[in-house]
Amino acid sequence: MSNILLLLAAALVGSGVTVLVMAWYRRRWQRRYTEQMEASMQSYNLELQIALDELAEKNRLLEQQNMLDALSGIYNRTCFDKRLTNELKRSRREKTTLGLVFIDIDHFKKINDTHGHLAGDAAIQQIAGILAKSLKRSSDAAFRYGGEEFALLLPGTELTGCIELAEHVRQTISNTPIQIGTLSLPVTLSAGCYAAVADANTSSNDYIAAADSALYQAKHQGRNRTASASAIVTPIIQESANES
Ligand code: GH3
Ligand code: MG
Ligand code: MG
Repeated sequence: MSNILLLLAAALVGSGVTVLVMAWYRRRWQRRYTEQMEASMQSYNLELQIALDELAEKNRLLEQQNMLDALSGIYNRTCFDKRLTNELKRSRREKTTLGLVFIDIDHFKKINDTHGHLAGDAAIQQIAGILAKSLKRSSDAAFRYGGEEFALLLPGTELTGCIELAEHVRQTISNTPIQIGTLSLPVTLSAGCYAAVADANTSSNDYIAAADSALYQAKHQGRNRTASASAIVTPIIQESANES
């Protein structure tokens, strides 16, 4: 009888030990499984982060390319429109002067007609390079606005500063003949300047119209010069439409 009890007790202890051992193995297995899962999640997260960083960098480069003019390598019109809108808001918010210079190559059609379109392209490239190099502040930017027209956006710059920079650029270009192969081609440009602190009613078009009207004056006064607009002007098209 006592043997049976002993056997029963041993069996009970044995099964208890088995349960404990199994529980211990199970906990160990769970811990290992959790650690492995955490490790693979970490490496998955790392790979994901690398892929996201690469994607962000590619997007940044693509965005940058979309902002650049293919021929001249400086910023394009799309970028100009965006930057002008943003700088105008900043000028309004911070009550700082925003300067704008419009530049147009003089008698450019003659260059194309006389020396060919490729010579014209080379002139655009070289002038764009001179414009970009003439900027002094990191907030200044040069844009190809259209065919042979350029714009300089100069945040925090008064009208006198805009005129000074425009004159520097004009003189540099008139003293630096464009090199096209063996050809050394004198080129001049005209510039129109405008600067103001934007208020609640000012729009991008007001700045463009004012700088454009100053450029028109410079052309009208004989080209190879800088003119300025001291106030926002009615666009020229509307003026002539009203006159007639
Ligand atoms: P103005 O002194 O009044 O500015 O006269 P302009 O001849 O410079 O101006 P106009 O508007 O009569 O001619 C501009 C020319 O620029 C006409 C157009 O064919 C040329 N053009 C526009 N874009 C390009 C370009 O990317 N490459 C070349 N080679 N020519 C271009
Ligand atoms: Mg033009
Ligand atoms: Mg021109």
